[in-house]
Amino acid sequence: MDYGWDSDGITPTPCMVDRNNTFTIHYDGNIYQCPALVGQDELACGDIHQGIQNYSKQYQVKNWENHKACRNCLYLLLCFGGCRFMKYRKDLTMDIDCKKNFLDETLESFVLQDIKESKVLVRE
Ligand code: SF4
Repeated sequence: MDYGWDSDGITPTPCMVDRNNTFTIHYDGNIYQCPALVGQDELACGDIHQGIQNYSKQYQVKNWENHKACRNCLYLLLCFGGCRFMKYRKDLTMDIDCKKNFLDETLESFVLQDIKESKVLVRE
């Protein structure tokens, strides 16, 4: 930022698997709902020849809805249960990847940075 490079401000970050019609097609024809999963055959949700399968269980779509902690969480709009890819890398599941500790430690700094960089409208 000191060199004038731009960056996005804080925004809601729903996972791509919770959004309709967001897919990535790999060069081999496999289809994934998240680009981070590309190249891992076992995580494909279909291919260009046979189409897209029901991936609700495979990707644990809207997993945050099943967790009371998420439904009551102040960070829900910034997290939505976290990143399926990161959780899969850590634990081989796509359950929630809680960001609460991270957001507890960093959110104030992010907001102050966005205010400083004029990315947040401040009403006086
Ligand atoms: S921070 Fe944790 S509890 Fe809050 S929405 Fe994310 S995963 Fe759920």
